[in-house]
Amino acid sequence: MFVATKIRIFCYLRSVILSGKELSDRLKAGMAREVATFPSRYGRVPHLAVLLVGDDPASVTYVRNKARASEKIGIRNTTITLPATTSEDELLGRIAALNDDPDVDGILVQLPLPPHIDELKAIKAIAREKDVDGFHPENVAALWRRRTEPEENPQYCVPCTPRGIIRLIKEAGVRIEGRRAVVIGRSNIVGLPISKLLLNENATVTICHSRTVGLGEITREADILVVAIGDPEFIKGDMVKEGAVVIDVGINRRPDGTLCGDVDFKEVAPRASVITPVPGGVGPMTICMLMENTIDCFINRENSKLER
Ligand code: NAD
Repeated sequence: MFVATKIRIFCYLRSVILSGKELSDRLKAGMAREVATFPSRYGRVPHLAVLLVGDDPASVTYVRNKARASEKIGIRNTTITLPATTSEDELLGRIAALNDDPDVDGILVQLPLPPHIDELKAIKAIAREKDVDGFHPENVAALWRRRTEPEENPQYCVPCTPRGIIRLIKEAGVRIEGRRAVVIGRSNIVGLPISKLLLNENATVTICHSRTVGLGEITREADILVVAIGDPEFIKGDMVKEGAVVIDVGINRRPDGTLCGDVDFKEVAPRASVITPVPGGVGPMTICMLMENTIDCFINRENSKLER
């Protein structure tokens, strides 16, 4: 059943196209209303600090978009831009200062970092309760722990892209429980965490990767297919089961400069029951979930002040 009033649904032949843009706009409007109540309730608004090392053009754009989204919602954003030559020690010192700053609720280190800086060291240096990306090893471990209480309130952030994918699927009314989910890609940022989130929703999950043998046979069994490879239009129509839900995480640039996903939309859309477009699908949900994670960290920190 699709909640047509919540997400506008576009029809492409027989498939439903899920607009992450539209859902994220609606969620952000709700967050803006919530944040507007914080000054009277808590005396301040959430504060997100973003550290950017170097001037990689894609990273500069991502960081700018995060600042814009924060501004629209009323979240305070501090972007700290450091030169590519910044030493690992200096970056760790900056992170430590943000950890100690009581006015900072969320810390994000924009990846990738220059090669002379150990990414894992930087991620580990972020205080767990301010880790809005959910990449800290303790937060990763918390995600992978078997949860016996479904309503248990996680006091940690789940990575933004997987959180956005689950939200998108659920808001569209797609049933996950008991269904066969196939995830292609096993990265720490997308493939692994989305696999665990689907498992949490009681899907039966298969993870595929670059060494998988007989990929098409496995993908053709998927009721829900999540593709996070980074290879333009790699998934063709004959790799997808009739009626599958297809979530395309890939963001690739074609030689002509236009964007495309990892799924060949023209071939796959007529077979899928539900499909996300690129652009306008998973992408907008990622920043939206970063905003939710920042608000969650803020509320958790404010609540822990009350408990003291
Ligand atoms: P990654 O390079 O870390 O991982 C890619 C994964 O794909 C690997 O696990 C690899 O084993 C697998 N893979 C590669 N070629 C394959 C093949 N031929 N068959 C099967 N598996 C194969 O990438 P990532 O960080 O997970 O990102 C994947 C894609 O998602 C990229 O296009 C990236 O830009 C995009 N992305 C989008 C968002 C968003 O907000 N929409 C967020 C993160 C990443």
